[in-house]
Amino acid sequence: GPASVTASGETVCPFCSVGCRVTLHLAGDQVVVWAEGADGPANHGRLCVKGRFGFPYLRHPDRLTTPLVRRADAPKDAGLSLRGADVLALFRPAGWDEALDMAARGFARARQAHGPQALAVLGSAKGSNEDAYLLQRLAREGFSTPHVDHCTRLCASVPPLAEATGFSAVTAPIEEIAAADVVLMVGSNPDSNHPVAASFMKNAFRRGVKLILVDPGMQALSRFATHHLRTAPGTDVALLSAMTRLVIAEGRHDQAFVADRLEGFEALKARVAPYTLDVAERLTGVPAAEIAAAARLFAGAGAAMTFWGMGASQHAFGADNIRAVIALALACGQVGRPGAGLHPLRGQNNVQGSCDAGLLPAYLPGYRPLAAPGHTVVEMFDAARMGEVRALYVVGGNPAMANPDLAATRAGLARLEHLVVQDIFPTETAAFADVILPAAALAERAGTVTNTDRLVQRIAPAVPPPGEARADWRIIRDLGVRLGLPWAELTVERLFDEMAREVPALAGFDWPLMERAGHARYPLRPAPEGDSLFADGFARGPRAAVVPLDATGADEAPDPAFPFILMTGRLREHWHTGSMTRRSPVLEALSPEPRAHMHPDDMARLGIAARGTVEVRTRRGTVRLAAWPDAALRPGVVWMAMSFFEAAANELTVNRLDPTTRVPEFKCCAAAVSLA
Ligand code: SF4
Repeated sequence: GPASVTASGETVCPFCSVGCRVTLHLAGDQVVVWAEGADGPANHGRLCVKGRFGFPYLRHPDRLTTPLVRRADAPKDAGLSLRGADVLALFRPAGWDEALDMAARGFARARQAHGPQALAVLGSAKGSNEDAYLLQRLAREGFSTPHVDHCTRLCASVPPLAEATGFSAVTAPIEEIAAADVVLMVGSNPDSNHPVAASFMKNAFRRGVKLILVDPGMQALSRFATHHLRTAPGTDVALLSAMTRLVIAEGRHDQAFVADRLEGFEALKARVAPYTLDVAERLTGVPAAEIAAAARLFAGAGAAMTFWGMGASQHAFGADNIRAVIALALACGQVGRPGAGLHPLRGQNNVQGSCDAGLLPAYLPGYRPLAAPGHTVVEMFDAARMGEVRALYVVGGNPAMANPDLAATRAGLARLEHLVVQDIFPTETAAFADVILPAAALAERAGTVTNTDRLVQRIAPAVPPPGEARADWRIIRDLGVRLGLPWAELTVERLFDEMAREVPALAGFDWPLMERAGHARYPLRPAPEGDSLFADGFARGPRAAVVPLDATGADEAPDPAFPFILMTGRLREHWHTGSMTRRSPVLEALSPEPRAHMHPDDMARLGIAARGTVEVRTRRGTVRLAAWPDAALRPGVVWMAMSFFEAAANELTVNRLDPTTRVPEFKCCAAAVSLA
C-alpha cells in the first residue's frame, strides 16, 4: 500500500486512445504498487480498471531484458505451435552489438539478393510519435521499401474521414459532448474500450443529452439511449442511408450548409434513394418508426456529436459504413459548431500520432499521398507467404495474434528469411524471429504521444527499463546507423522537432513547447472565422464532401453448415492480444479465460450448459472454449474477445479487406458451434 512507496512518476496510460495521465507509485525494486489518476487534460484524475490495475506487466518476469538470437538448431516453424514464454527456449542471449549487427546484416542481405521490395516494416500505434516517425524513415531511407504500415490498419481507417474533411483527425474532441444536444454513436462500445471517455459521456447523458445508439447488441450505454437501433450485423449502411433519405425527403437537412459547404450532395441523394424505411426495416430488423424517429431527432438537434468505432470500421465494407455515418452528419450540418463534430474513437494510445507521422504505406508524414503505395498489414503477410516479402522488421506489433485468419499470417511468418521482432514480451510473433530486441515500455520512456482528441502529451520515464531494454526510437536509430544512415546524433528532442516541421497540422509545435506546457492540442492557431468545419478551429478548407457508397453486405453470410455470425471484440479488462493485461493478477482474475458469448436461447436450443466447453468452427479454424450466456447479444451471434492465445479468435476470422481502407472483416463471418 501507499506506506511502502519509495518513488513516484507520471506517464500516459498505454491502454487506449483517451490518453489518461497516471501516477505510478513504486516500492522496493521499482515495482508498481499503486497507480493513481493524475490531473491530466483528458482524464482529470480518472482512470479505468486497466489504468488502475494494468501496470504489473512493467516488472513481470517475462519481460525481455536482453537481446536474443535464434539458436542454430531451433526449427524455423516452431512458432506455429509455441505460445507465451515457451518461445524463449528457441533463443540464446546476445549483446546489443551482436544482435543489432545480425539484424542489420539480414536486411542488407535480403535487399541485395531480392531488391528493396522484399523488405517490409510493421510498426505499432503503442509507441511514441518519435518511434513512429523514425520507423517510417528507416523503411523509406534505410530499407528503400514502400512496404511500411502499422496496426491502426486493423481498427481505424484514414481515408473516409480524409475524403470528407481533408484531414484524418477528429473534427471535435470528446469534451465537445458537453455542448451537444444529441449524440449519435455507431458501432462503438466506449464503456469497455474507452472507459474514462464513457464516464464523461454518461455525465452528459444524465444531464439530458440524448443518445442514438447503433449497435446490434445491448451494452452499458444502452440504458442511456433514447433510441437504441439494434441492427442486424453488417447492415449499418442501409440504416444510415434510410435516415439520410428521410431527412432530405422531409427537408430537415441543413440547407444552408449543404449549399455553401458540401460537395456531392446530389450524388448522395441518388445513392440513398432506394433506402425507404420499409427497405431499411427489412434489411436491418429495426422498426421503420424507430428509424424515422431517430433520424428526426438527429436532424433537429441544435448540435450533435457523431462517434463511431470498430463496429463500423472492421468490415469488408467498413469505409462505406463510415462514409454513411459522415454523410448523415454532413447533410444535417452537424459539424463546425460547438457541440457538433465527427469523432472516430481511436483504439491504441498513439493511433493519431502514428498516422500523423506517416507510418503508413500510402502517406508520408502529414498525410502527403504517395503515388505507389506499399503493402498494408495483412497484405504484407500474403506477400510473405508468396515469397515476395523475405525480410520483416516488426516493432511492437503481434500479427501472429492480431491479424485475421492466423493460419495464413503464421504461414507467412514461417516462410520469412529474416525476421526481427522488437517488443517488451516474447510474443506469439517473436516465436518466428531470428533476432528479438528488448524494448522499453511507454512508462519507461521519454517522448510524446497524441490521443484521440489531437492532444499531444509529453511523457518522461516514470520507471527505468528492466535489464538492457531500450527505447524503440533508439534501437531503430542504431539499426539505421548500421545500414549507413547518418543518424548517430538523433535524440527524442530532434525527432519531435523534425516531425513537427514535416506535419503541417503541428505548425508551432516544438520540443521546448512540450517541455514548457506538457501538452497541447493541434492546431495551435485557430482558423480564421468562417473558414472551418471544426468546432475548435481545426481548418482544412471551407468545404466538406460526401463520397458515393457501394457497400454490398457481409462477405461471408451464415449458411446451414455455418449458421452463426462470429463477431470479435475487446473486453474492458484486457488489451488487444493480451500480452500486457493478461500479466496483471487483478485483470486476469476479473477476466481469466476465453469465452464464447452466446444468446441463452441459442444455448438452450443446442443443449449447451453455461460454462460448458464448446467448439467454435469456421472455414479457417477451430477453437475450444467455455460457452457464456449473454442475453445482450442478438440470437444467432457468437461473440469472442481477441485477447486469449489459448483460444485465439483470429484463428477463425476471415482474411477479407475493405477495398478502400484495407481494414479486415473482424465483425462478421460464418461460424458453427457444437458441444466439445
Ligand atoms: Fe487507460 Fe484508456 Fe482506461 Fe484511460 S480510459 S485509464 S487511457 S485504458
